Amino acid sequence: MSEALINATYIIAAALFIFGLKQLGSPATAVRGNLLSAVGMFIAVVVTLFSRQILEFQWIIAGVFIGSAIGAVAAKKVAMTSMPEMVALFNGSGGLASLLVGWAALYNTGNTTFTVVTILLSVLIGGVTLSGSIIAWGKLSEVMTSAAIVFDAQRIVNGVLLAVLVICGVLFAMDPALNSPYLYAVIVLSLAFGVMAVIVAGSLVGAAGIILTNIMCKAMNRSLANVLFSGFGAVKTATKVEGEVKPINTEDAFLILEAASNVTFVPGYGMAVAQAQHVVRELGELLEENGCEVTYAIHPVAGRMPGHMNVLLAEANVPYDQLIEMDDINPRISNVDVAVVIGANDVVNPAAREDENSPIYGMPIINVDQARTVFVLKRSMASGFSGVDNPLFFGENTRMLFGDAKASLSSVIGEFKG
Ligand code: NDP
Repeated sequence: MSEALINATYIIAAALFIFGLKQLGSPATAVRGNLLSAVGMFIAVVVTLFSRQILEFQWIIAGVFIGSAIGAVAAKKVAMTSMPEMVALFNGSGGLASLLVGWAALYNTGNTTFTVVTILLSVLIGGVTLSGSIIAWGKLSEVMTSAAIVFDAQRIVNGVLLAVLVICGVLFAMDPALNSPYLYAVIVLSLAFGVMAVIVAGSLVGAAGIILTNIMCKAMNRSLANVLFSGFGAVKTATKVEGEVKPINTEDAFLILEAASNVTFVPGYGMAVAQAQHVVRELGELLEENGCEVTYAIHPVAGRMPGHMNVLLAEANVPYDQLIEMDDINPRISNVDVAVVIGANDVVNPAAREDENSPIYGMPIINVDQARTVFVLKRSMASGFSGVDNPLFFGENTRMLFGDAKASLSSVIGEFKG
């Protein structure tokens, strides 16, 4: 293949990636976007294989078959609700690949300093991604606690870890021998840093690639450095929240919903835990039959991965056009008759807007406290992921509907059906 043809094909593949990614931004075009990106990747792989002097194809073909089989079985078997865990595991595989490819490249002789630095980055990012993804999987599948793990000397430990990592990287780059102890140190420290980063951020940060990381940081209105080096709850103590809690039962909740002319559901992590997405959609349909306008307000970091709520609601066949992003719902939230908060907590916490001492101060939230009436469906007064108390629960217009979200919604549906 001529060099010009190879380059032209790479440009086509890159264009397909870009268009594909763009289309992934909306649920309506996401399937086509995914297909375009897959075609781009296929073209890139084929061109790479045929433009290099590859001596043996058997291992590559075996890898293609094994990988395809795992992918096909996973796509068929894994429940939509377990997507975040699967994404974490697949992401970890990418990290492992990056680490191994970087390491293997050291077997080439005559690497320039630039190549060695590239290899180091590949090993470092791969290591962080691998261990970070495994921890993220543990958190998402609740094998370990899903709350952020914070401890006193966290910033110092992370700072020292990063500094030693950089020093070892520099020492290795100065003398890039295959059996260099500094290379092993970089690998081990990257793995450790991946664990620390995810433990602090409690997220796929570092693990999910720079795009997701950026989405997360933007949505939380925090810089990457702040996410990695502070951790929720680590620095500030929020003002103590006090007041009267007003519980409501399902009969009364039904009467208020029946009289509402527009209702917005605000799902959060608890909806995923309760697996309440199907009953939410059913209640939505009953409300619509009753002449009520129904929307679903989606916070970008509700749940435990970007897009978590979209995936669950799509699985329950909630129409795309009823999903409203935070920035679109907030300006009209004061006209919402009832905001039904389903297992969301941090993403509707007014302390993020009002309490400068709160660790989540500055994070944009869905301003449900400004709706005419708010129902909060959760099991207790417990805090959410950030461990911060929520003044919303004591609001004048807030009614707490205690219990598992699925059970509570099913009871309300029961009332609707008489
Ligand atoms: P939160 O974690 O703040 O709150 C979830 C709430 O759900 C809890 O307070 C819990 O209360 C309730 N809950 C749990 N189980 C049930 C159940 N069965 N029925 C009813 N309620 C239940 O969730 P949010 O979605 O509001 O916020 C997400 C948080 O996670 C943010 O802090 C975000 O920064 C963070 N995060 C987000 C990631 C992402 O990419 N989306 C990744 C990692 C972290 P109770 O126990 O009383 O029922």
